[in-house]
Amino acid sequence: MSVELGMPTIPPPVLAPRRTTRQLRVGAVGVGSDHPVSVQSMTTTVTADINSTLQQIAELTASGCDIVRVACPSQDDADALPAIARKSQIPVIADIHFQPKYVFAAIEAGCAAVRVNPGNIKKFDDKVKEIAQAARDHGTPIRIGVNAGSLDPRLLAKHGKATPEALVESALWEAGLFAEHDFHDIKISVKHNDPVVMVRAYELLAESCDYPLHLGVTEAGPAFQGTIKSAVAFGALLRQGIGDTIRVSLSAPPVEEIKVGTQILQSLNLRPRKLEIVSCPSCGRAQVDVYKLADEVTAGLDGLEVPLRVAVMGCVVNGPGEAREADLGVASGNGKGQIFVKGKVIKTVPEHKIVETLIEEAMRIAEEMDGDPSTLVGEPTVTVS
Ligand code: SF4
Repeated sequence: MSVELGMPTIPPPVLAPRRTTRQLRVGAVGVGSDHPVSVQSMTTTVTADINSTLQQIAELTASGCDIVRVACPSQDDADALPAIARKSQIPVIADIHFQPKYVFAAIEAGCAAVRVNPGNIKKFDDKVKEIAQAARDHGTPIRIGVNAGSLDPRLLAKHGKATPEALVESALWEAGLFAEHDFHDIKISVKHNDPVVMVRAYELLAESCDYPLHLGVTEAGPAFQGTIKSAVAFGALLRQGIGDTIRVSLSAPPVEEIKVGTQILQSLNLRPRKLEIVSCPSCGRAQVDVYKLADEVTAGLDGLEVPLRVAVMGCVVNGPGEAREADLGVASGNGKGQIFVKGKVIKTVPEHKIVETLIEEAMRIAEEMDGDPSTLVGEPTVTVS
């Protein structure tokens, strides 16, 4: 049976147009309202350990990371930057605190951008002219990254704590120093661990400048809490068109940050959707173990790189409707599963064959969609009870 799928020609609807910003390039990645929102993360390796850092960057690249940031707290780290910048497949941003000399080192090393923290760069202020000149000469943008935990002491004294106004004042003051030297290749972040403060800070910032903005809830916490905080805060801002790059900060391996960030953008149609499992929460009407079925289908299709919506439904109340709307689906009941492909029932299988059948059909559809099985990352596993 041939199934007509193909890529949609009309872009899916989004909640808001992007806020119009200046444009800049972080290496090969365009940043600003003319470009897609990009996903970033940060390595956790010692940067001076070049092999480990490049290995982690490769894992991040494979998981969909667009831009990666590496810490540069020592001369050994600065010395590693040229090799890392040259060998990384995605643009590398050097994260610099305290030491102006590493800013110059990172620019010379060919890093795609440099992040500086106004709260930690008192010593930078009289070097802004030289930094702006070096950055301009190399086409290197600067991210001004304000963080509630390291707010400029002068602004902390003035505002009493890291309020939205204090975060924004710090960022704009620093951007103003660069602007005095006619340097505007700037991206700004104003991170706070409280999504309410963070959202307000970005709203104020968006009203006050046209620089592209990098969104982040800093120190958002372990994976579950950090995911929720980041999703609600980014959602509130992206709903207003605010945000040009995002980083989900989790106390978890950086690849997890990319998975969450990518999913947030896909959910808002800001990045093409890939695999999407539509599964019901189950209830007293369920005639199959929906949790198990959904987990097994999700695991079996892990890494599928085509836009495919798969419905896994527990009974006939909403099952046929959802399964019909999806690319592929099952409506379960009475120990059987009706398998739908693009709205049509193609077969009915016994319950123990549901997972296997859904995965077979998904693979067949995926091949029809692009004819290239190499888009599948790894072999799917099928677990049938
Ligand atoms: S599809 Fe059926 S089992 Fe699933 S939540 Fe709805 S009514 Fe309950």
